[in-house]
Amino acid sequence: MKIISSPAGMTGWAAKQAGAGKRIGLVPTMGFFHEGHLSLMRLAGRHADRVVVSLFVNPVQFGPGEDLAAYPHDFDRDRELAEKAGAAVLFVPDAESMYPGGFQTTVRVGRLTRHLCGASRPGHFDGVATVVCKLFHLTAADCAVFGEKDFQQLAVIRRMVADLNMAIEIIGHPIVREADGLALSSRNTYLDERFRASALCLSRSLALAQKSAAGGILETRELAGRIRDFILAFPGTEIDYIGFVHSRSLEPVAIVDADTRLVLAVKINDRVRLIDNGPVLQPAAAPGTTA
Ligand code: AMP
Repeated sequence: MKIISSPAGMTGWAAKQAGAGKRIGLVPTMGFFHEGHLSLMRLAGRHADRVVVSLFVNPVQFGPGEDLAAYPHDFDRDRELAEKAGAAVLFVPDAESMYPGGFQTTVRVGRLTRHLCGASRPGHFDGVATVVCKLFHLTAADCAVFGEKDFQQLAVIRRMVADLNMAIEIIGHPIVREADGLALSSRNTYLDERFRASALCLSRSLALAQKSAAGGILETRELAGRIRDFILAFPGTEIDYIGFVHSRSLEPVAIVDADTRLVLAVKINDRVRLIDNGPVLQPAAAPGTTA
């Protein structure tokens, strides 16, 4: 696996691969890899001849007071894991080379970015869309894989690609979870044992919503109230948002249907902001299968 740290080095490598007819798959990350990241890399390998993993803690997507400086990192471990997962290149640019003096262009997706994480983290999705757009160009990627864990991010990227006619296929990967349901996240490392237990409120809320909806409660106001009480019963939890939204537009919905997704953001111990999401109605079992 090649380590490339300069944007020019990245475009040079990508041009050679494209010239040789190789299909390039990109997995953008901020590092500190876990099984979620590695599954994305393996999926990219099934869609491309060469997988590029970018590792860049993008300063412009962090707001003041967020965890940019404290973001966990372990380069040697990440390098080993990415190589094992089949990456051809680990692209590790620094902030100065990505945003040199004079930089003044922003990619901004509209309505989709104004609520949920966009409301709690002003400017976040401008930073994400801008860096992802740069990474698409630098790597000449034919496809890119993103996790459904960042559900709004995936919707924003799909919107940007459609709106700006980018010739790249966007592939979503389902959320990878611990055995007890906690969605894997680099930020889980901030949780001690007590707050690790509180973090389960997110995945358990999804289960509660699914159970309640299956039991006939379809009004999202009622469901949100139940989930709110449920989450606040866990020690050290503070709700950022509970959203019942349409899975493509991300607009709020009043009554649950097959397209409704529950999206959640909860701050644990006043410090660790975690997100999770899932469909509210479980897909019907395929014909011929039994529960
Ligand atoms: P990050 O390093 O947190 O920016 O994440 C890089 C990519 O991995 C993003 O597309 C995330 O959505 C994805 N990702 C992070 N955690 C998970 C997870 N538990 N399951 C699936 N994808 C994930």
